[in-house]
Amino acid sequence: MPVLKHTHTYGRWKTRGGEMHFKCLDPQCTHFAPRSLVIGKESKCSKCENIVIFDWKQAERAKTLCLECQNTKEARELKARKSATEDLMSIAFGQTKETLEDLEKENPLA
Ligand SMILES: [Zn+2]
Ligand SMILES: [Zn+2]
Repeated sequence: MPVLKHTHTYGRWKTRGGEMHFKCLDPQCTHFAPRSLVIGKESKCSKCENIVIFDWKQAERAKTLCLECQNTKEARELKARKSATEDLMSIAFGQTKETLEDLEKENPLA
């Protein structure tokens, strides 16, 4: 398979010798390079089409991830936390309402 002329999507890849290399994640592409050659190069995000400069922080990841996709994950976690809080609040309100209705039933105003 050929090395494609595109912006590679680098992902961590260990050679048989145990060396740290980075390989293009595109199944059609056979490009790979040692970390020292990949640092500073352009790499495509493994989740979207964004191009990022492959730096030491990216090298710590298993796959290249652009800032937007990193933020999306954080945003998703934040959203999950927020909806959990909203659920708790609606349960609390629901219980309060039921309790009030029960009280009204037990003590009719008429
Ligand atoms: Zn490639
Ligand atoms: Zn992305």
